[in-house]
Amino acid sequence: MRKFNFCAGPAALPEPVLRQAQQELLDWRGLGCSVMEISHRSPEFMEVAERAERDLRDLLKIPDNYKVLFLQGGATGQFSAVPWNLFGAGSKKADFIHSGHWAAKAIKEARRYGQVNVVASSEDRNFSYAPSADSWRQSPDAAYLHYTPNETISGVEFDYVPEVDCPLVADMSSTILSHPLPVEKFGVIYAGAQKNIGPSGIAVALVREDLLDRSMENIPRSLSWKVAADADSMDNTPPTFAWYLSGLVFQWLKAQGGVEAMAKQAEQKSALLYRYLDSSDFFSSPVEKGSRSRMNVPFVLADDSLDKQFLAEAKEVGLLNLKGHRSVGGMRASLYNAVPLEAVEALVKFMADFEARRA
Ligand SMILES: *Cc1c(COP(=O)(O)O)cnc(C)c1O
Repeated sequence: MRKFNFCAGPAALPEPVLRQAQQELLDWRGLGCSVMEISHRSPEFMEVAERAERDLRDLLKIPDNYKVLFLQGGATGQFSAVPWNLFGAGSKKADFIHSGHWAAKAIKEARRYGQVNVVASSEDRNFSYAPSADSWRQSPDAAYLHYTPNETISGVEFDYVPEVDCPLVADMSSTILSHPLPVEKFGVIYAGAQKNIGPSGIAVALVREDLLDRSMENIPRSLSWKVAADADSMDNTPPTFAWYLSGLVFQWLKAQGGVEAMAKQAEQKSALLYRYLDSSDFFSSPVEKGSRSRMNVPFVLADDSLDKQFLAEAKEVGLLNLKGHRSVGGMRASLYNAVPLEAVEALVKFMADFEARRA
């Protein structure tokens, strides 16, 4: 029996998608083999690849002057790809907003190739909020500004899109497809798939076309957006099964009402949990109001000696993967698109019951 899964990533996938994949696994489209076992250049797979791109374009209303790339190496691969692809024309300087764990990793990687200027940071209050735009000191000659709209580990989400003069680059691994997106405000958007797109093994990058010729000279071929764009993301063998499954998720999203419906649901699910956390003396949210993530909700027990028991009892009633990240402790419930409202209702009910039994 499937249980409610709050894993931060790889995360829950929509059940209908898994069922379809299961049903098609051995004999896909009457070919007598699975989608994993045919050439990525076959007309059948090309159709899967093209449909996935088309559906993603529809979902996010991606303008025509953006390439949609399906890549390997995860979001971490893009931490390297961003400087490699953007430091080749003009300055090797980039502005970064430091909002937590993932921003730190992106910064560390960019520093290997150029100069990083941290324009804003929330380190002063343990990364419990998204820095506001009025505190920034932007560089006049930055090749790009990078930020992390949703910090998956600390559960901090920006409630605004930065306005900058240089190309804006965003790591949307844990928030893409959870709301409508003004894509035209960004130079580059990238995301590892395993939170809100599909299984691990594939990453998506949306790159504005005029940024494709800014790469450093010795860029590794596998990191080049230009090479990927020219080859329709098939310069070498792509992760075909992950691409196919991501495509099924896009179809499922469209059938659910698209990103507008997902935004409404994310609001509803996260509000339900935050409302309970704020009303309880037993549990609390460490994230400041106004910056609280709709996708990842960390929370702590007032008495952390009960953490283990909380997790064990939660698991017993079918609420999985609520343990917080090892770097911050406590609990975390990830509420991605594939996690239904009933899961959050069940979680809140369990928490209230756990609390009541100790009152
Ligand atoms: C999970 C995550 C990553 C790392 O993704 P990989 O695909 O494992 O490299 C990077 N950034 C954010 C915001 C994430 O949530």
